[in-house]
Amino acid sequence: MAAVPLSGKPGRDCPRCPRLVAFRNTWRQSEPAWFNAPVPSFGPIDARLLIVGLAPGLRGANRTGRPFTGDYAGDLLYGTLKEFGFAQGDYQARPDDGFTLIDCRITNAVRCVPPENKPTPAEITTCRDFLAATIEEMPKLRAVVTLGRIAHETLLAAFRVKRKDHPFSHGGRHLIDGLTLFDSYHCSRYNTNTGVLTPQMFRDVFARVRKFLDGTD
Ligand code: URA
Repeated sequence: MAAVPLSGKPGRDCPRCPRLVAFRNTWRQSEPAWFNAPVPSFGPIDARLLIVGLAPGLRGANRTGRPFTGDYAGDLLYGTLKEFGFAQGDYQARPDDGFTLIDCRITNAVRCVPPENKPTPAEITTCRDFLAATIEEMPKLRAVVTLGRIAHETLLAAFRVKRKDHPFSHGGRHLIDGLTLFDSYHCSRYNTNTGVLTPQMFRDVFARVRKFLDGTD
């Protein structure tokens, strides 16, 4: 991977993406009680599994300050993680719900909420330094689940490997620099409502990850 000069945690006022800074400032004005800042990764730094999402949802992670928390996608993600032993507690869509991750950490390709849930290619590239630093700071990391093509492709770019050698596909598995990468369609409302991703398809990905980490695959 490229040399990583940063920590995996952008500061609250990270200035790197002007469009996202402006959007964040608008929401700081109108909703001062919301988190409205780069959303930090969630879960233990010594986890063996990292899940990479896209970006915080406006009224979900951007409001609560915890990835996927309060976002529609979080219901399926956290329910599935618990089912496969990667989480414990009662997920209540609040950062103080006491829900914890086990051997698993969650981050986003882009840490700040983007307008209309769509980060630009430049924002994805700019935030990649934080993704690379997040990976570097995890001493026991063995597996990564990428949720959607954008997460998959930014991860490949972080490792400087070619897309054509590791094309995204739901259920796909890739070996990259000693890490095993599992691809899934993103667990977004759109994908689940349209049947692109069913809960069973999502479970199947985490069942494979579980077996991989347990050494039983
Ligand atoms: N919430 C997040 O934190 N990330 C996503 O990718 C979607 C919702």
